[in-house]
Amino acid sequence: MLPQRIIEQLIAIVGESRLLLEADDLKRFGVDRTTLWQAAPCGVVLPGTVEEVQSIVRLANQCNLAIVPSGGRTGLSGGAVAKDGELVVALDRMNQVIEFNPMDRSVTVGAGMITGQLQQFAEEQGLFYPVDFASSGSSQVGGNIATNAGGIKVIKYGMTRNWVVGLKVVNGAGDVIELNKGLAKNNTGYDLRHLFIGSEGTLGLICEATIQLARAPLESSVMVLGIENFAEIVDVLACFSHDLDLSAFEFFSQLALEKVVAHRGHAVPFQTETAFYALLEFEHSSPEIVDKAMALFEHCLDKGWVMDGVISQSLSQAKNLWKLREDISETLWQWQPYKNDISVRISRMADFLGEVDQLVMEQYPDFEIIWYGHIGDGNLHLNILKPELLSVDQFHNKCVNVSTDIGQLLAKYEGSVSAEHGVGLLKKDYLHYSRSAVEMDMMRSIKRAFDPNHIMNPGKLFD
Ligand SMILES: Cc1cc2nc3c(=O)[nH]c(=O)nc-3n(C[C@H](O)[C@H](O)[C@H](O)COP(=O)(O)OP(=O)(O)OC[C@H]3O[C@@H](n4cnc5c(N)ncnc54)[C@H](O)[C@@H]3O)c2cc1C
Repeated sequence: MLPQRIIEQLIAIVGESRLLLEADDLKRFGVDRTTLWQAAPCGVVLPGTVEEVQSIVRLANQCNLAIVPSGGRTGLSGGAVAKDGELVVALDRMNQVIEFNPMDRSVTVGAGMITGQLQQFAEEQGLFYPVDFASSGSSQVGGNIATNAGGIKVIKYGMTRNWVVGLKVVNGAGDVIELNKGLAKNNTGYDLRHLFIGSEGTLGLICEATIQLARAPLESSVMVLGIENFAEIVDVLACFSHDLDLSAFEFFSQLALEKVVAHRGHAVPFQTETAFYALLEFEHSSPEIVDKAMALFEHCLDKGWVMDGVISQSLSQAKNLWKLREDISETLWQWQPYKNDISVRISRMADFLGEVDQLVMEQYPDFEIIWYGHIGDGNLHLNILKPELLSVDQFHNKCVNVSTDIGQLLAKYEGSVSAEHGVGLLKKDYLHYSRSAVEMDMMRSIKRAFDPNHIMNPGKLFD
């Protein structure tokens, strides 16, 4: 519980209606999309300006109060979970467009802006914000930056990091710092902006972001291809990406498709059933590019990698094909899935896929495993569904073993235990499979430099 004197000081900063202390609010703001931890914040505060954020952080330093920065709480690693009496600082009110600069093709927004609103704003200017995923309707720009979110267009446009040209942050010591100021070129020493990108709220609060916008994309087509063997998805990827400028290359398993079709009422892409499906998208300025895609499809059929396929003939058909992939995550939620979000280099993927598939089949035959992910980026989402008979705790304990086995495999393949969801609480025990002891020590030193009193999201990323 927050002591009365801190309550009064917080009210003096943000006003009474912006400090939430009711149980329902604490529960709502204290968790992200993971279901493993109970929300237990001491309060939720909703600042409206950078100055208010600064005053909150300074107060937290004086009172030794831990802060959990909160965006849309769509995170999948427990980064925004407040389970130990922390103060949640939610940026929801800081959601305005602050400045649009057509000449620079950049826009400065409050960190609380919803990702989808930024995409919409860009579209209204005839431009494009390419970071996109199924939670764009509720995640925030600050949360995207704090997790360096990836999504479905990374193969062409890269991660969130590629689009951040400036940040205004309040660090853990309560200093307001402007990082990079929208510059395209700025070789003036360490680029601290990039430390904040992916920092998961452990260095400070991102208050404003200047985002580079892309030119509007060309018309695009979507293909779904049926593939029988896991490893051959990589052959298909290599074939298509060699000759086409792909804007997405995703995959999902038959089991994932079955769940989405049964629970969302979508139509199957074609009647042939295969163990896996690749969904690829490419932009085109002429019919010849579509012809080239069809020729590649024929080639994959001849090689025996692909069993069947479909190409969108209209925008609505393309959207419907995308739903087969995009709706998987939300559909699986009812089974309280344990998520592994892993990556290896594309060139090592075929071997890795073989080993990870064998490991899961041999060691965990009783689990229902759903595969999908951004395979064009070397990124797999391995979802283990909770069997009805196991409690959440029993299930979690078993999944810990899976994560350890996969962590060891990832270490062998020099892969990542968290490709795009961040580390948070969920993956911190596995960080050492991807990061050396020296790196971890350096990360701790960096945290101390920005957050000397250790008030920013303690216990996330590392202890
Ligand atoms: C259905 C679904 C699909 C998803 N698909 C993808 C995907 O394809 N790719 C992907 O990368 N992710 C995906 N995610 C994960 C998640 O949506 C993204 O990571 C998203 O960027 C998180 O944003 P958020 O605002 O919800 O952050 P939150 O969950 O609120 O927070 C995430 C982390 O950022 C910190 N944080 C939040 N705001 C700030 C701030 N202003 N300053 C400092 N730190 C802050 C939090 O403390 C926490 O550590 C998906 C999630 C769901 C539910």
